[in-house]
Amino acid sequence: MTAVTVWNEYRHERENDTVADIYPDGIHATIAGALDDYGFDTQTATLDEPAHGLTDDVLAATDVLIWWGHAEHDAVADAVVERVHDRVLDGMGLIALHSSHYSKIFTRLMGTSCSLKWREAAETERLWVIEPTHPIADGLSQFVELPETEMYGERFDIPQPETLVFCSWFEGGELFRSGCCYTRGAGRIFYFRPGHETYPIYHNEQIQEILANAVQWADRSTGTNPEFGNSDPIESIDTSDVRTVH
Ligand code: ZN
Repeated sequence: MTAVTVWNEYRHERENDTVADIYPDGIHATIAGALDDYGFDTQTATLDEPAHGLTDDVLAATDVLIWWGHAEHDAVADAVVERVHDRVLDGMGLIALHSSHYSKIFTRLMGTSCSLKWREAAETERLWVIEPTHPIADGLSQFVELPETEMYGERFDIPQPETLVFCSWFEGGELFRSGCCYTRGAGRIFYFRPGHETYPIYHNEQIQEILANAVQWADRSTGTNPEFGNSDPIESIDTSDVRTVH
């Protein structure tokens, strides 16, 4: 069974009544509860726990890490970012949500600024499915309509996605690449845009379905580990070349 850890700053929900009304137990609890219902083995971790809840043991036991950050990116310890980065290269999946575009782990994995345009006006978003045969789009129709969202607009300063699964249209006129797939080392990474904390985005069943699909896609725990380094020949060859430095 895929083991999922949902990480959240968990500050807005404790400091802002609007956010607390929507996510009384935190965004992480809502997402973890939804993924539980899909049959995943879920746990949560938050910024204010020791090591932000992301110890070596937790990460070793995590197949897919979901990350929600917004106002406290700088409060995430570099040592923890290093651990998460190593685990992604080693094959752990990472799903970066919404304002996590600016998280230390996502910008490090992308290597770009990950800057974008934004506006808070509770406007409609139409999340278009660009690749209907992709596993992350499984079960969806042409688009998901979200009646009230924060706008994110292009240019989004990311590397070219390996697959662009979703593209958003906003009522105010902008476009945005909202569902972007990457591979880094052995790990699969999915950036997913919807999710501003003052709108009930993660209560939306279609959004929950997308997250469940993304977890399944990002889980590489059954893959074969690659081998690196000096390698004995598979066929019989002459290895006595005098120029070889040992
Ligand atoms: Zn936001």
